[in-house]
Amino acid sequence: MLPFGLYIHVPFCAAICHYCNFNRGLLDDGLKRRYVGAVASEIRSAPSRLGLGAAPPVDTIFFGGGTPSLLDGAEIGAILDACRGSFAVAADAEVTIEANPETVAVPGLQAYRRAGVNRISFGVQSFREEELRRLGRIHDVARARLAVAEAREAGFDNLSLDLMMWLPQQTVAEWLESVDAAIATGPEHLSLYMLELYPNAPLRDEMARAGWSQAPDEDVAEMYESAMARLEGAGFHQYEISNVARPGRESRHNLKYWRDGEWVGVGPGAHSTVAGQRWKNVSATDAWAARVEAGAAFDVERRVLTPDERWQEAVITGLRLTEGIDLRAFQERYGLDIEARYGHHLRPYLDAGLVLIDAGRLHLSRRGMLVANDVLLIFL
Ligand code: SF4
Repeated sequence: MLPFGLYIHVPFCAAICHYCNFNRGLLDDGLKRRYVGAVASEIRSAPSRLGLGAAPPVDTIFFGGGTPSLLDGAEIGAILDACRGSFAVAADAEVTIEANPETVAVPGLQAYRRAGVNRISFGVQSFREEELRRLGRIHDVARARLAVAEAREAGFDNLSLDLMMWLPQQTVAEWLESVDAAIATGPEHLSLYMLELYPNAPLRDEMARAGWSQAPDEDVAEMYESAMARLEGAGFHQYEISNVARPGRESRHNLKYWRDGEWVGVGPGAHSTVAGQRWKNVSATDAWAARVEAGAAFDVERRVLTPDERWQEAVITGLRLTEGIDLRAFQERYGLDIEARYGHHLRPYLDAGLVLIDAGRLHLSRRGMLVANDVLLIFL
């Protein structure tokens, strides 16, 4: 049995950002206390409920949100104790917490370290004040820099920052200012996401009212390619469409999603993929907690992945990685010769240098990553 990843969804935020479409709600202390008990209980019941046997192996744990850093060290410790009590958590497991800069201080960060958290990922998004305000973020640039310094002081030696590009009114030069500022803080890992405006995002209305717009497509390509070039110059390597790391500091947990691994998601709205099945927990925190407390089922949308879905997903996630897909290993695992079946459709992308085949691996070039969705449609 290969080790699982454990994903723990923490659905609380101190304020709701203007663009956010995640499963989250405003912090409610009573509900948070109930949440911690319910999440520990869900973890304790997981091995037998999922038929995984006693103490199944786990080598990554990821607190995602929401804003997991709204939980204090004792709460994170109680949840990690439940993990260690029910799963065989590897001694060198990667244990990540997502944190917002305004929620942390050295004593709390030290408490996370004592509880066993060894990686921290800060949602910084921008190093420019007016961009943070437009997004509805409640930290400022100085707080973001201080949070990184505080994490270092608390002993975190594996630190990641999230940045967002293609923000309203953002120019290429302004975006690169944030990239340079992020590099200057000295993280081990960076995630660069493009702003996605979902249909009812409040930011859409604000953009319309204020007359803000996003940069044209050719500027987005330059934002992406210039940022990656700068990051490479600073010693990072790109390993996924949106992620760069110093050597050996890739997110081991997220690699499970992209390399066809298995993970158990706990908490409201969390997804799981185990033994060819996929399911999702009830999304509303109070409804999920009530079901866990009552010993009732809290999973929804459970289904067995079909063979077609399994190989399609392996292609979609594998092509997100710069290493791409090992064509022979893929054929052995899924019985599908990608070149024979899809070579004709891939030809225009191969000719344009957007898709490459070398040393038996199919992968996207950097420019190809900008049109990844078009390439992936070939397989769907
Ligand atoms: S902090 Fe993150 S999860 Fe919370 S509202 Fe903002 S973007 Fe959404």
